[in-house]
Amino acid sequence: MRVGIVSLIHESNTFISLKTDFDMFRSSFLLRGEELSKYFKGGHHEISGFLQSLEENQIEAVPIFYASTPPSGTITRETCEQLMAIIFSSIEAAGRLDGLLVAPHGANAGEGNDYRDLDGYWLSRLRQTVGANFPIICTIDPHANLSSKMVKSCHATIAYRSNPHIDQKECGIEAGNLMGKMLRNEVVPTQAASFVPLAMNIEAQHTLEPPCLPMYKLADQLLTHPDTLSNSIVQGFPYADVKEMGSAFITVTNNNLELAQQQSNELANYLFNHREEFVGKLIDVEDAINQALSMEGPVCLLDMGDNAGGGSTGDGTTIAHELLRHGKVKAFLCLYDPASVNYAANVGVGQSLRLRMGGKVDELHGPPIEENVKIISLHAGKYSEKEVRHGGHTEFNVGLTAIVQTDSGLTISLTTRKSIPVSIGLMTSCNLDPSDFHIIIAKGVHSPIPAYTPFCKSMIRVNTPGTTSADIKNFTYHHRRRPLYPFEEI
Ligand SMILES: [Zn+2]
Repeated sequence: MRVGIVSLIHESNTFISLKTDFDMFRSSFLLRGEELSKYFKGGHHEISGFLQSLEENQIEAVPIFYASTPPSGTITRETCEQLMAIIFSSIEAAGRLDGLLVAPHGANAGEGNDYRDLDGYWLSRLRQTVGANFPIICTIDPHANLSSKMVKSCHATIAYRSNPHIDQKECGIEAGNLMGKMLRNEVVPTQAASFVPLAMNIEAQHTLEPPCLPMYKLADQLLTHPDTLSNSIVQGFPYADVKEMGSAFITVTNNNLELAQQQSNELANYLFNHREEFVGKLIDVEDAINQALSMEGPVCLLDMGDNAGGGSTGDGTTIAHELLRHGKVKAFLCLYDPASVNYAANVGVGQSLRLRMGGKVDELHGPPIEENVKIISLHAGKYSEKEVRHGGHTEFNVGLTAIVQTDSGLTISLTTRKSIPVSIGLMTSCNLDPSDFHIIIAKGVHSPIPAYTPFCKSMIRVNTPGTTSADIKNFTYHHRRRPLYPFEEI
């Protein structure tokens, strides 16, 4: 038996003005054939899980294609066409296959009506290409905006069960094992989804905390039914102006469509009945800083409006400006700012200069911080992560990095490439000890938590403005469903 592996992973934030093009994929990940196994084998990603479980099921893994780039704006039409051409020609070139394990993100969004639900587009085209009965099993990020096209195209769809995502490999293993059972004719995976007219606030999506925790416990309970093979909670990605934006549930049973629908509906009803718990606390910047200053440090302030892992610019300064108004505070912040890195590198370590830092990509994340700084150190910006962290990657490269310090105690890591703070290596690889700071600003909502929890005594999620603002009422949607809670009362 031969099972192909195809993946296209992008979380498209359609509110970012800069579009995502082919070069962004090329400079991140465009892997073909054996390049996939070389990169993922033994790792923490779902493709690592596919490879491991296929081997354990004595099925030949046929790695075909993986494309990914960090979350950013809508994928251009031309890029969608280029990616589709590679995907379908590579599948054809892979020879005879008995099944496909596919990993779309679930929140890939391209330009134009046909590509807006990009995952629905390529999965339904894939289904047409291979025929109705060909086994296709799919894994998605719970930040997917699930479409019925996606559901109809696959025998089973499995989302990671954790946010922050630390179970991607397990999700891949579950999909691979299910493929094994399907190919041995032990089960007939049959899925049904339930779509809830609700957009779950990003702040309320941590899977180990209420309000999500009891819902995941209910999902675990439903798994005990002898015919239920899998179930998934699709939290949704609110920063995409697409029809499917919002939450959904999937249940996969052994040839029991009625049960699959009934269990998905049960989960959907739970969420809908508890909808008021899923709107977020929305703590503002001033409150967050006052709270943090009264607490024992280090306190991690999670900058939700500049969530680099949700596609934001990573150069937001809103919290830092407020901190500077408080006078001397030992605090750490990382900013994407290639121009400032260049200035610092030209002047050299130990020197001082006046810099305008961050706030340059757009005008939504605060103005630049203009301060005299001392250049503490320069680094190549490459680091590795051994632990399982959100996103499943182990190697990071943020490019040339300058560590600078203001007189008021703010230490800023200026990076050449946008960094997503999922590994503490961002600080430790630059000889910074997280416990030296009272406040650490991390540009994320949940993704930094596994890496930062061992060092921070508390975490506060801050409602900052920006392209990933937690307050989704700040965005103007043209394509979303109506009515949709909390925009409309239902
Ligand atoms: Zn996600």
